[in-house]
Amino acid sequence: MTMLTARCHCGATRIRLAHAPTSLTACNCSFCFKRGALWAYYPVGDVVVLDDAHTVGYSRDPALHTHYHCGVCGCGTHGALRCTWTEDGPDFSAPRIAVNARLLDDVALVEALPVDALDGRNDW
Ligand SMILES: [Zn+2]
Repeated sequence: MTMLTARCHCGATRIRLAHAPTSLTACNCSFCFKRGALWAYYPVGDVVVLDDAHTVGYSRDPALHTHYHCGVCGCGTHGALRCTWTEDGPDFSAPRIAVNARLLDDVALVEALPVDALDGRNDW
């Protein structure tokens, strides 16, 4: 199994991924559009936050998600999603972690992956 590490600019926040993403998501909701992240979604067990002493959480709706950034360098690092969104609405039996793929060291991998557009501004 190939382990990947995502790290913020200063290195204070590091995240280990169980495997490489196969696609990324660009969401245009009010938060993601401003953050400018490319999200790689994982089941909770596939992501380990190795260093989070400086990680700061933010949420406008804690029942749904908390977004994290590095309090030292400001990079958006990951989000804890309490559910998976489906066509029928939120599925709270499937929480996920969204990792900002822009933090992966392998820039060539990130640039080669397909990017799915998620219409988070209008879909819900
Ligand atoms: Zn940092």
